Amino acid sequence: MNGFDYDLVIIGGGLVGSSLALALRNAPLRIAIVDAQSEAQRRASPAGARALALAEGSVQILQRLGVWAAIEPDATPIRHIHVSDRGHFGKTRLDAEREGVKALGHVATARAIEEAVIGALHDAPADLLEQARLIGLKAGDDRICVTLRQGDDTLNLTTRLVVGADGGDSSVRKLLDIGSTARDYGQTAIVLEVATERDHRNTAYERFTASGPLAMLPIDRKRCSVVWTLSHHDAEDVRSLPEAQFLATLQETFGHWVGRLSIATPRQAFPLKLIRADRMTDRRVVLIGNAVHQLHPVAGQGFNLGLRDAAQLAEGLIGRTEFGEDIGSAGFLEAYAASRSRDLQNVVFFTDSLVRLFSNRFAPLALARNLGLVALDCWPAAKQRLASHAMGLARRIPRMPS
Ligand SMILES: Cc1cc2nc3c(=O)[nH]c(=O)nc-3n(C[C@H](O)[C@H](O)[C@H](O)COP(=O)(O)OP(=O)(O)OC[C@H]3O[C@@H](n4cnc5c(N)ncnc54)[C@H](O)[C@@H]3O)c2cc1C
Repeated sequence: MNGFDYDLVIIGGGLVGSSLALALRNAPLRIAIVDAQSEAQRRASPAGARALALAEGSVQILQRLGVWAAIEPDATPIRHIHVSDRGHFGKTRLDAEREGVKALGHVATARAIEEAVIGALHDAPADLLEQARLIGLKAGDDRICVTLRQGDDTLNLTTRLVVGADGGDSSVRKLLDIGSTARDYGQTAIVLEVATERDHRNTAYERFTASGPLAMLPIDRKRCSVVWTLSHHDAEDVRSLPEAQFLATLQETFGHWVGRLSIATPRQAFPLKLIRADRMTDRRVVLIGNAVHQLHPVAGQGFNLGLRDAAQLAEGLIGRTEFGEDIGSAGFLEAYAASRSRDLQNVVFFTDSLVRLFSNRFAPLALARNLGLVALDCWPAAKQRLASHAMGLARRIPRMPS
């Protein structure tokens, strides 16, 4: 075989694709990672500044990948979660100590995680093909041909398995005609950092408002990352407000749980959609991460779910390699898809229901959800279930080599 033959080609070196490559660094597999961007372009992207809430299950996976030690100094533990419905009486609080854990999760920027994972990949034997775009896929019996465009050049690779980790707008999904269901929530998330007058005491706030949810994640002792979800129209209006007016609107919507707020970073906007692929696999191809499920950030689950995809797939691939079995066989890919479907369905259902329930202004529903929040606050067993959902510990963590 020529130099362009691989065992595994990962299309998309974002957070999920890179985590998969890292999980496989000691496996005897020839791996190529293909990304449309260069490392410098990724570093310069303002999207890297978004804060991600990491479930404890994800922290355990990152520990096994050997990168948590590099992320932890810049990560903030979540010790309390406070959920409230603006203008209504219901609220609930989750507390790490009461749940018998040190933290309910951690908050870290996408950039901090990316730097740690991609930094660790530099020592791995995988080939990195940057500024290369996938333009064609053709599956044969024991190999699949991958065509890439890199500048003016066309590259042809062959491999036993292609992993599509190329995000919500996945070219792998489109080239293979894998259908998808998209729900446009008609909402945009405005993301920025604020300084807080009072210490947030490691509390993550989720405040549901008539116009959409507002999350305030602790990122430093007196600093929080805001993810403020609004209708496209309201987001456009709010985003273009002069700073003082924007701040006043934000403060009024969030309340004074951490005292006066002041703006620390520019506002960024992310249009929100639920995209769900109709299936995860095709001949010698499997989709993971946002390529299968792009979620609303309300429950902070997108990367957590994608990381579990990567960990589970790595576990399966390592097992196949140990026994010299074909890593792209239909049987293996179907078994992988079946093993992920329950987690995926649960998280999509949980996230989508949360958005719809709390975006609804219908008065009886507002009353019902407030009674629900009060009931949750008084009912330890239900609260424990919500906590384990939020912590991502309700599922088995895939066994990966450390
Ligand atoms: C505002 C906001 C807040 C969020 N908060 C949270 C949170 O708190 N917790 C959480 O778990 N998740 C959160 N998420 C979701 C999380 O950011 C995503 O789920 C995660 O980044 C998806 O990673 P990915 O690697 O699957 O896709 P991406 O990050 O989209 O990476 C895809 C990669 O593929 C490359 N690519 C694309 N097309 C091609 C092509 N044709 N050829 C080659 N390469 C290609 C791209 O350059 C990119 O590097 C949030 C998202 C947003 C927008």
